[in-house]
Amino acid sequence: ATVFLNDTFLPAEQAKVSVYDRGFLFGDGVYEVIPVYGRQPFRLKAHLSRLQNSLDGIHLSNPFDDAHWTQLITQLIEHNEGENQAVYLQVTRGVAPREHVFPQGVKPTVFMMSNPLNAVPSLYKTQGIKAITVDDIRWQRCDIKAIALLPNTMLRQQAHEQGAGEAILIRDGVMTEGSASNSYAVFDGVIYTAAKDNTVLSGITRDFVLELAAMTGIPVREESVTADRLTQADEIWISSSTRELLPVTTLDDKPVGQGLPGPIWQTVNELYQRHKLEMNV
Ligand code: PLP
Repeated sequence: ATVFLNDTFLPAEQAKVSVYDRGFLFGDGVYEVIPVYGRQPFRLKAHLSRLQNSLDGIHLSNPFDDAHWTQLITQLIEHNEGENQAVYLQVTRGVAPREHVFPQGVKPTVFMMSNPLNAVPSLYKTQGIKAITVDDIRWQRCDIKAIALLPNTMLRQQAHEQGAGEAILIRDGVMTEGSASNSYAVFDGVIYTAAKDNTVLSGITRDFVLELAAMTGIPVREESVTADRLTQADEIWISSSTRELLPVTTLDDKPVGQGLPGPIWQTVNELYQRHKLEMNV
């Protein structure tokens, strides 16, 4: 595969980063994952705007303007095969002697790769997935899309070891999001999802899902749901750029609602599939 590192496109095997890179030593960097449908990046502007917010959040200046990012991402897609891709990009604070204080005058390291965006297995949509609830052990700035994902990987691994596809995170008694997704619960025909604050990532897919819900007139409340109440939900969903919108039909080994993908999920997912190519602003 062809990847991008700093200022050039090159074969992945030839791309090398210094052991002094702050991404490697401190996890000091931010990233984005952009889905590509029919060789077109989905909601690129929104992803670049969130990248800017993440960079601002860690006090790192953006190495490129949006026009240049767009050009590079377009080229990366051209260099790689496949109609549907997942573009991964990350920016770290660069290479410097190991010292916590930010180095001055160092160029950030920019890395981009594209992987195939595999279709979500149809079983996940016909049967739904399993999830577990776990304590949200992450930091207080989950609005920053930081590359330091150790808590997320630990919680996702815990889910995996219990035969589940996602960990739903509980902080101070309420659902925040998934380990790598936003999360939703449906009660009496109303969709609930956590409000955008420092405890969740502002998902681009979440924005799309809420637009689709608004189109159908299904009410949405951006409010927290307690872990207790979650056990009584009619439906639970997760969303992300790579998994789109998936129904959670088993939570902590108990069926969610009837234990099958629910009608509200069916409606919103149908719109998702119908509009993901053309509602690409
Ligand atoms: N929340 C977390 C913690 C994530 O890692 C992700 C993305 O993978 C999301 C939410 C969903 O964000 P998006 O819809 O922009 O992919």
